[in-house]
Amino acid sequence: MIESADYIIIGGGSAGCVLANRLSANPANRVVLLEAGGEGSGWRFRMPAGAYLLIGDPKVDWMYRTEPDPSLRGRISTWNAGRALGGGSSINGMIYIPGARADYDNWERLGCFGWSWDDVAPYFRKSEKFAGPPSQSHSQEGLLGVSPLSIAHPFADAFVDACVHRGVKRVEDYCAGNIDGAFLNYVTQWGGQRSSTAHSFLREARGRNNLDVITNAKVDRVEITNGRAIAVHYEAAGKPHRIVARQEIIICAGTLQSPPLLMRSGIGAANQLMEHGIDVVVDRPAVGKNLQEHASFPISFFTRVPTQNALLRPWKMPGHLLDYLFRGRGLLTASPVEAMAYLRSRPDLEQPDIKLQFAPMVFDVAKRKPHERSGISVFANVSSPKSRGEIRLRSADPADAPVIAHQTLGHPDDMTTMISGLKQVVEILKSPPLSDIIEEPCLPTRIPTDDDQWEEALRTFTSIGFHAVGTCRMGSDDDAVVDPQLRVRGIVGLRVIDASVMPVMPAANTNAPTIMIAERGADLILAAASAKPDRIHQSNNIGGDTSKVSA
Ligand SMILES: Cc1cc2nc3c(=O)[nH]c(=O)nc-3n(C[C@H](O)[C@H](O)[C@H](O)COP(=O)(O)OP(=O)(O)OC[C@H]3O[C@@H](n4cnc5c(N)ncnc54)[C@H](O)[C@@H]3O)c2cc1C
Repeated sequence: MIESADYIIIGGGSAGCVLANRLSANPANRVVLLEAGGEGSGWRFRMPAGAYLLIGDPKVDWMYRTEPDPSLRGRISTWNAGRALGGGSSINGMIYIPGARADYDNWERLGCFGWSWDDVAPYFRKSEKFAGPPSQSHSQEGLLGVSPLSIAHPFADAFVDACVHRGVKRVEDYCAGNIDGAFLNYVTQWGGQRSSTAHSFLREARGRNNLDVITNAKVDRVEITNGRAIAVHYEAAGKPHRIVARQEIIICAGTLQSPPLLMRSGIGAANQLMEHGIDVVVDRPAVGKNLQEHASFPISFFTRVPTQNALLRPWKMPGHLLDYLFRGRGLLTASPVEAMAYLRSRPDLEQPDIKLQFAPMVFDVAKRKPHERSGISVFANVSSPKSRGEIRLRSADPADAPVIAHQTLGHPDDMTTMISGLKQVVEILKSPPLSDIIEEPCLPTRIPTDDDQWEEALRTFTSIGFHAVGTCRMGSDDDAVVDPQLRVRGIVGLRVIDASVMPVMPAANTNAPTIMIAERGADLILAAASAKPDRIHQSNNIGGDTSKVSA
């Protein structure tokens, strides 16, 4: 039975596994990682195509249900999230993209001092073990395997060519801070296997004597006394447990679970906490607010030449399996998305505001499986949406899923941007060389001809992009949940380090940015400990604004 540790990490997802590794690298630190899900081991977690079997499996996917979304005609959506070591990185689509210089320079402008592109770029490189050619924007020294696509359908190149035909630039290295154009994307894979953070950061670290990883351990709350986080309460095998933190507690439960954890610990909007019988420690209405998610709309066309749909026939599977098992390659190592492009909804915009993801495949929505016919799909997002939602507590019981109240297309500008993007997608798909291979549309079955029809299609078919962020917003203002050192404002010895701290969604998929946040967060923790080992005990600012406690 573990009674205490220097650092207790709550949630072993994309961020939590990075922190477990970096904090336990110093043998003097005793580290405990608590993960509500299981080990996440087995072939489904290593084989890239295993994602199709993991997403939607309630044993490894939280499968949260939203409230009816007024912006989507009251539809209720399922929001997937990894429920195993590695979290999202264990079940995601493996697209690797840091985002744009402008994203992080904007964070800095918003009061996230120390998070500009020049500050964060070294942390993207620190985590990365790149299988492609050496370049200044990549590193081969990190732990997270990042590779060029091991297999790409020729239509991925054709998509980039069609974008270029429409005047979009071809981007040679999109990891250098410039994403303005079209490119084939890299993936978090190594040697044809998925690189989750559980595999790349935790596997070897688990051999260290000073790191304990406890799975199937669901954290109820953080115990706070006199403004200082002192212990974690969790349940495992039906029994309650308590571990005391000698240094810090780090919440890494993700955008949807970190706010409820703070709220159950007494940090949140006082009226909401009191409604659920929770003692208020810090009245912080911003906890759970600022929820952002990529609205995602697929446009798909059938093609007259075979795509992955033809290759995915059941009788072809034994061949793919042998290819994967003996050569570590083939269709089962493919990423769902093979190319991306960024567009502008208006030509005068300084930065692109529309993100496209290309897949050489078309889905049969009614049958919920790949279509019998071959086709291609383009998923369009507003890169950094203006629509906002919130996470609320359903009850004080940790077994209850949070309330997810979002308006995916709630902001009128997002609707306008999406319509502009989708019209451009149709033009791209009808441009050479794609124009030679596409047949009739699959989804929507008839391409809208005016904005009203586009809006109707958007409200009917838009789904999520799997990129929820923002509910424990970082900032320097009085309303922010964490300060730029990722410390929970008003509490000593407690940080949030995961996708929830992003103030604004970067124009990117969110796994690499979350891993970067964890890398930098680990450095902030270690620097604070070495600068002032007894910092927590010396603080005379308990219960006040800890952004004034030097790190
Ligand atoms: C289906 C899917 C596809 C995606 N595709 C991509 C992609 O291709 N590229 C990309 O860049 N991004 C992608 N993403 C997004 C990316 O994976 C996430 O942004 C990222 O994983 C978030 O990391 P996190 O550490 O914030 O949270 P998570 O990785 O979700 O980690 C949170 C962890 O905390 C655990 N936890 C929660 N509550 C508790 C509790 N009370 N006690 C203990 N443990 C708890 C969870 O089980 C989980 O393991 C995808 C996400 C999903 C779900």
